[in-house]
Amino acid sequence: MRIVLTMVVTLLVGLGALFYIEPTKPMPGEAYVELVNVTGDDEAPKCALDARYSNEAPRGLRDDVLAAWNTLKSKAAAEGVQMCLNDGKRSAWQQQAEFDSAVRRFGSAEQASKYVLTPEASKHVQGVAVDIQPLSAASWVERGNGKLGWCRRYQNETWHFEFDPSYVGGCPPMLPNALASR
Ligand SMILES: [Zn+2]
Repeated sequence: MRIVLTMVVTLLVGLGALFYIEPTKPMPGEAYVELVNVTGDDEAPKCALDARYSNEAPRGLRDDVLAAWNTLKSKAAAEGVQMCLNDGKRSAWQQQAEFDSAVRRFGSAEQASKYVLTPEASKHVQGVAVDIQPLSAASWVERGNGKLGWCRRYQNETWHFEFDPSYVGGCPPMLPNALASR
């Protein structure tokens, strides 16, 4: 009996070791979870080109996106085009607040989703989207057709651009609105 018990215990310990997952090991997606909690610049000055907009610091954008944003701005400036970052990074709670206010404004979550996505879906929360103003600057970016990795994604948002390295070969077809991206 004692031998059987010892064998069972040995077997259980062996199995336990087999399925043991080290608790301190970073789980996939951990970096993403941290990034979604990074807030953007919410004390931005007004855009010097058009006071209806702000000009945020590009704080919280993903590293490669920040580099791409700086490149975009300097290439534009070289062609005499100035731009403001009306909105860039948002944390999940900033996005939720925007979504809630859009639901109040548009009357339903369905209508609101055509303009503002939930934190889970928003590219602003992921740190890969920027809202560019004024419109003349946004059009300049759009005419580049992804050459610098930036593409306009929605027919109803002339100002919203997303970065993806794969866009350099040309922008994918635009979606009618943000709701269509879910
Ligand atoms: Zn946007």
